Amino acid sequence: MIPIAKPLLDEKEIEAVSNVLRSGMIAEGARVAEFEEKFADYIGVEHAVAVNSGTAALHASLLAHSIGVGDEVITTSFSFIATANSILFTGAKPVFADVEYDTFNVDTDCIIDKITPDTKALMPVHLYGHPAEMKAIMEIAEDHDLIVIEDACQAHGATYGGKKVGSFGTGSFSFYPTKNMTTSEGGMITTDDKAVAERARMIRSHGSKQRYLHEIVGYNLRMTDISAAIGLVQLGKLDDFTSMRKENAKVLSDALGGLDGITVPVVRDGCNHVFHQYTIRAEKRDDLAAMLNQSGIGTGTYYPIPIHKQPVYTDLGYNDNLPECDKAAGEALSLPVHPGVSKDELKTIIESIKDWVVEND
Ligand SMILES: *Cc1c(COP(=O)(O)O)cnc(C)c1O
Repeated sequence: MIPIAKPLLDEKEIEAVSNVLRSGMIAEGARVAEFEEKFADYIGVEHAVAVNSGTAALHASLLAHSIGVGDEVITTSFSFIATANSILFTGAKPVFADVEYDTFNVDTDCIIDKITPDTKALMPVHLYGHPAEMKAIMEIAEDHDLIVIEDACQAHGATYGGKKVGSFGTGSFSFYPTKNMTTSEGGMITTDDKAVAERARMIRSHGSKQRYLHEIVGYNLRMTDISAAIGLVQLGKLDDFTSMRKENAKVLSDALGGLDGITVPVVRDGCNHVFHQYTIRAEKRDDLAAMLNQSGIGTGTYYPIPIHKQPVYTDLGYNDNLPECDKAAGEALSLPVHPGVSKDELKTIIESIKDWVVEND
């Protein structure tokens, strides 16, 4: 089976973890501080705050901006559930804007339609590693005095206009094993705002700056030095991983572009797409996925049910009309693009799809 995702770990990560274990200091410590510093440098921001998941990064980012009951946060329904759930955690209301046909990212015209006096923040997602339209998003935020929290959980190293995502607003990253780099479980908040970083640190650790003095309600969202040790090694490999993802994507697009019933991913001008996923649109998506899976090729459907149609949201009374989002949920199909996919495996994927297109013509 060619897997849809696979973390690439070698002796370097094993040694880094062993060193932490041998030290006996296995909770949050020096490795976490070093990882934060290097990640902040990589993204090009002043501060990075490590937490124990991407979900925790989103949650703590919202809380660090004092978003809560009575506030609305405009986001996309075509994402992983954690995007919207992090808003619900705070007591605020997720409001869903529709998506663009070509990038699957939030449609900035639809954002404007959803703004109310209660809107406090925008939460774009850089889906599949393609940056959201950050110029328009930052302009809307400026005009309406809104906070921007970027869900960059799939977009480590992606750039928009030469600037890394996660540096426009407050960034939230995930290091889950399927992401572009991993720490096992883990996440990171990125910001240039010292006060936001300080508050995020407090929320990460029971609302305290000073041990046993608790100023606000916080959680235990801390990353361990074991995870940070993995993250430091992975961060050093990230640009190579990204190059391989982009090369694989190019091979796939060169071969699959123009096939009947299939639309290959776009890369907008001025954007560096880091291909967390290589996602095509296929009119007969489910048939194509079934054929590929039977041929030993892993595929992903991200996401088969938009968030606003999930039972947890319909039970809350959500009943949005988001036609592009529904269409995307029916057509999106991700193919293996990660750095562990070999040239021969790419050939197998391409030949299988070409044969299927001819047979189904
Ligand atoms: C992975 C992911 C998250 C959540 O990250 P975890 O580390 O799994 O908690 C949030 N949003 C998006 C878009 C993701 O892909």
